[in-house]
Amino acid sequence: MSSLFPALESPSGLIALRFGDRSLTYAEFAAATGALAARLPRGGRVAVWATPALETAVAVVAALRAGAAAVPLNPKSGEKELGHILSDSAPSVVLAAPGDELPYPVRDLERIDVDVDVSGTGGGPSPAPSPGDEDPALIVYTSGTTGPPKGAVLPRRAIATTLDALADAWQWTGDDVLVHGLPLFHVHGLVLGILGPLRRGGSVRHLGRFSTEGVARELNEGATMMFGVPTMYHRIAQALATEPELAKALGRARLLVSGSAALPVHDHERIAAATGRRVIERYGMTETLMNTSVRADGEPRAGTVGVPLPGVELRLVEEDGSPITSYDSETVGEIQVRGPNLFTGYLNRPDATEAAFTADGWFRTGDMAVRDADGYVRIVGRKATDLIKSGGYKIGAGEIENALLEHAGVREAAVTGEPDEDLGERIVAWVVPADPQSPPSADELADHVASRLAPHKRPRVVHYLSVLPRNDMGKIMKRALHRA
Ligand code: ATP
Ligand code: MG
Repeated sequence: MSSLFPALESPSGLIALRFGDRSLTYAEFAAATGALAARLPRGGRVAVWATPALETAVAVVAALRAGAAAVPLNPKSGEKELGHILSDSAPSVVLAAPGDELPYPVRDLERIDVDVDVSGTGGGPSPAPSPGDEDPALIVYTSGTTGPPKGAVLPRRAIATTLDALADAWQWTGDDVLVHGLPLFHVHGLVLGILGPLRRGGSVRHLGRFSTEGVARELNEGATMMFGVPTMYHRIAQALATEPELAKALGRARLLVSGSAALPVHDHERIAAATGRRVIERYGMTETLMNTSVRADGEPRAGTVGVPLPGVELRLVEEDGSPITSYDSETVGEIQVRGPNLFTGYLNRPDATEAAFTADGWFRTGDMAVRDADGYVRIVGRKATDLIKSGGYKIGAGEIENALLEHAGVREAAVTGEPDEDLGERIVAWVVPADPQSPPSADELADHVASRLAPHKRPRVVHYLSVLPRNDMGKIMKRALHRA
C-alpha cells in the first residue's frame, strides 16, 4: 500500500490542522511528525495522551510514521480505566503535550514531550522503513457502552480502506475543510476527524470544545463539512430556535455528518426545516470502522444510516444465523459485516475475537436493523439492550425513543425492557422532561406513543430523571439506567 498520507510526502504551505489559534501547515506538520517519529521506538506500542490539541494529532501520525501502534488515552478516564488500558496494551512510552500533567498510572510510563514547532528541521519522507499494511497502526478501546472497553487492533489497511470508502460516499476531497469538536481518543474524532482530512490533503479546524457558536463561525469562514455526535446536533436543533445566524451558517455547509449513536428523527427534521440541510448519518464501530453511510449524492432520509460503503459486505441474520433476504422494512436481524475495513481482533482477547466472528468470517456487530425496499439500513438498536421482547413482539427501543422525543414535554428519552410476568418484558421509559415543574404524565406519554406507533409499543412504566447517564461520546449508558 502506498503512504497513508500522500500529502506528507511533498508537503505544502496549506494549513493541515488548526486548534484554536494554533495551526500547522502540511510542511510544518511533516517536520514535526518526522522529528518525533525519529525519537520513537520502532514498532511496538506508544500511548498518546489524547487531549483535543495539535500535539495529539502530531503524536498519532508520528507513531504511524515510525511503524509503532498508537494507543490513544482518554484524559478524562479514571485511574481504574487507565490502569486497565495500560496493563492490557503495555505501551513502552507515553506521548504528551509539554506541560500536561499526567495522572497515576500514566505518569509511571517513560514520557516523551511532543514538540509541534520544529521549524527548520525539515520533513520529507517517512523516517522508518515502510510498515506493512497488516501491522497494527492503532489500538482503540471501544466506548464501554455495554461492558468494559476492549482494545480493537486496527491495521493500516483498515484505516486506508475506510477513509477511501468515505471519500467515495461523501465526495470528500482535499478542498474540504472540516469543523471538528469531538474528542480524539475514539475512531470518530481521530480516524475520521483527523486522519481523514490528512489523507485527503485537506484541512481540519478543531474547536477544542464543541459550541454552536464555534460551528457557526467556522462554517461562515469557509469550513465545508462538520462531523458530530447526536448530542451535538441536538444542541444545534435547540439553538436554531433562537439563533437565526446559526441556521444561515449551517445552510452553507456542504455536508453535515452524524454518527456514534442514532440521530433522533426529531432533531434531524428540526435541522432540515430551519437550514434546508439534511444531516447525513453513517454507521460504524471501533472494530469495523465505517460500514454504511447515506451518500452525498444519495437521498438523505431521517432515521436511516444509508447503504453499505464500497467494499463492505453487509447482511442481516435471524437468531438461528440464517441470512434475511427480504428488504421489507420489517424483518429485524443482526447486522453482520465483512470487508477490508475490519480490525484484526481484540488485544489479548482471543476468546472475544473468536466469539465475534462467524465460521465464514462475518463480524457480528450486535446491532439489530431492518432494510428498506431500496436497501437503506435502519438500525433498531443493540441486541443486548435495545431489543425488547414483549407480548410476543420484538420491539426496538429506538422508535419508541423517537416517538417520545416528538412530545413537546420531553427533552431526552431512553427506553429499556424489564422482566414482566405476563408480557415477558415490559417497556420502560426514562424521560428528562422539558419542564421539570410539570412533566407529562405517564398516561399521556403512553397514549402519545400508542397513537404514533402501535398500542403494544406504549411504555408501561415511566421514570423521570434530570439527566440521562451518557459517556464521553454522548451515548446513553443503558446499563447505568437501572441503577439511576
Ligand atoms: P462497547 O462495545 O464497549 O460496549 P460501543 O459499542 O458504544 O461500546 P463503539 O465502537 O464506539 O463502542 O460504538 C459502536 C456502536 O455505536 C455500534 O455498534 C452502534 O451500536 C452504535 N452506532 C454507531 N453509529 C451509529 C448510528 N449512526 N446509529 C445508531 N447506532 C450507531
Ligand atoms: Mg461495541
